[in-house]
Amino acid sequence: MSTKNIFSLNKENLLEIFKGWNELSYRVDQFLNWIYKKGEWDPVKMSNLPMNLRNKLKEFFSFDLPHVVDKKDADNTIKYLLQLSDGENIETVLIRHHNRNTICISVQVGCSFSCKFCATGLIGLKRNLKVEEIIGQALTIQKELWNEGERISNIVFMGMGEPLANYDAVIRSIEIFNSDWGFGIGSKHITISTVGIVPRIYDLANEKVKVRLAISLHAPDNEFRNQIIPINKKYPIEELLESAWFYASVTKRRITFEYVLIKDFNDRIEHANKLSILLKGKPAHVNLISWNKVKEYPWEPSDIYSIRKFKEILDKNGINNTLRISYGCKIRAGCGQLRATYLGMRGIEL
Ligand code: SAH
Repeated sequence: MSTKNIFSLNKENLLEIFKGWNELSYRVDQFLNWIYKKGEWDPVKMSNLPMNLRNKLKEFFSFDLPHVVDKKDADNTIKYLLQLSDGENIETVLIRHHNRNTICISVQVGCSFSCKFCATGLIGLKRNLKVEEIIGQALTIQKELWNEGERISNIVFMGMGEPLANYDAVIRSIEIFNSDWGFGIGSKHITISTVGIVPRIYDLANEKVKVRLAISLHAPDNEFRNQIIPINKKYPIEELLESAWFYASVTKRRITFEYVLIKDFNDRIEHANKLSILLKGKPAHVNLISWNKVKEYPWEPSDIYSIRKFKEILDKNGINNTLRISYGCKIRAGCGQLRATYLGMRGIEL
């Protein structure tokens, strides 16, 4: 009999399984409480469950989590290198800042979108992650936080891969993150970042849990965006923004636009002005991020003078924006730098 990984299931699934075993529904609550509140993943030790149920749970489910291969720590940021059951590796980052424990999780092994400035894009897509592998990243970190009496407060889908290209697994994971029986993280503390798969943005607007949406814009017009984000040719900026405003109107939440500043490419005064025209009067917030150097690409990060000037123009034009410090750069855990595993494993010098 093949066992099911427990971290892929929601409460409804468990209620059905327990019903089939003639167990009362409060047993599901007790079981979930052990898993997501107490961090006890050995059913034999779930002391308030009858012994025969504990044995059945042990036989029926697997409780496997990713294996921590390596951990690097700098600037209140910890990068975890995790190994999955088939030997593939992914990276997850914990950022501890302002009393928040934010985790940046991966959704795919690699990525298929080939953005011309992103380290993960160099790997290509190996496969989608399963629900239990997405939840497993969070539980691996939560387990360590429990030891300090702390919990994950925020989740950003900004690790390796494109969340809207692994849609079903991401939505199911969000249910587990958001539910009271699961991680209990409010929807406004969960953010999906997307390269801009327009039809999926409309789908997301219809989901029960209304998470925050961040869009990787990075350029103020199609001519520039086409050069660094190939999917822009399929879903150009006008369509992308239309879906963004729709999402904002349904969720009553501002959309975040990520804009990495690349020296002499998209960081000039005229780009800031064009960006302002696109977003003027809209429910938008721009996150300005200095590009983290990835040496395979010809770009350089913007200098501080250009970054300040860019920000000044947005301010002057009344565009909400924040200059983001990218944590974790020293340990290559900054945005878009997650790929050490792959290239390292293939003997390419990092
Ligand atoms: N695929 C999703 C989420 C993963 S990338 C997306 O495209 O949004 C998370 C964010 O990091 C995106 O905004 C991405 O464009 C940005 N990013 C990628 N490479 C980067 C780099 N080298 N420096 C800074 N940000 C980068």
